[in-house]
Amino acid sequence: MTKKNGGRRRSPEERRKRVQSIKLALIYTLLGWMLITLIALVLLTVKVFSLQKQVNRITEVVESTIRENSGGKQDISTSETDTGNAKTHPETETTYKVQNGMSEENRYQEGDSRKVYLTFDDGPGEKTGEILDILKENGVKATFFVVGSEAPEATTLYQRIVEEGHTIGMHSYSHKFTEIYGSEKAFTADLQKLSDTIREATGVTPSLYRFPGGSNNRVSNLDMGVFIHKLDEKGITYFDWNVTAGDATVSEPGVEELVENVMADVVKYKTSVVLLHDGEDQEITVEALPSLISEIQKLGAEILPITDSTDPIQYVTLAD
Ligand code: ZN
Repeated sequence: MTKKNGGRRRSPEERRKRVQSIKLALIYTLLGWMLITLIALVLLTVKVFSLQKQVNRITEVVESTIRENSGGKQDISTSETDTGNAKTHPETETTYKVQNGMSEENRYQEGDSRKVYLTFDDGPGEKTGEILDILKENGVKATFFVVGSEAPEATTLYQRIVEEGHTIGMHSYSHKFTEIYGSEKAFTADLQKLSDTIREATGVTPSLYRFPGGSNNRVSNLDMGVFIHKLDEKGITYFDWNVTAGDATVSEPGVEELVENVMADVVKYKTSVVLLHDGEDQEITVEALPSLISEIQKLGAEILPITDSTDPIQYVTLAD
């Protein structure tokens, strides 16, 4: 009689083979899954990086749209009502004194003298040379809050700013909000890099700073007190502004509008720190500057560069 294979008892040899093949199948399945997981992991990592890049690009676009103008101006009006009050950062519990150049103390009264500080942010740019020419022709000294560049043209402009008697201040090396406000370490590294660049170019160690977006910017995820503290530690004074020209807004004003923007505020204060820009393509600033200077002088105001002894205009300071 014929017996089917399955019917008879397997020999130990056959059993060992079967167990072996089940083991192999398990191992292959396991390896297969590991491989699939690994591939998925790699693909996801690549995806995360590309998304991160996109987020950075979008952030940069948003930042360049915000610039200093809109952010600062809006914040002044809200902080005006808060003047004298303390604000506490919800996470770090840093207490700020909210103050600004729009306080009652700084209101112009009949008989007061007026001081105007013209400040140029974001340069050196294409128009910085022309701006320096206009200032020279008018015998006016200003303050330049510069960003970092190793380009020979930038080095020459840093030098011209200093040689022609203006004040050179810092406005961050990269001007990338996400980068500089990302961590205390990143902020400090950026600050040091710019300070070194300026010192190497001009021999001057800068002692003034303007926060990109202002000291009360809402872009920084980190408490601004961290950075304010860092500047304090290094003996660097930061300056915000209380008058904006609006020369870097998306809807660029005309020359007359720009001059009016500034003069409407300058008349109100004893001390005005005017925010202007000399970054990329600031043709409007060049065009408006001569009339702006003459209007300010007609008002009898003195145009001065910021120095270490100038009383700072600051939106927020650390409470004692
Ligand atoms: Zn800026």
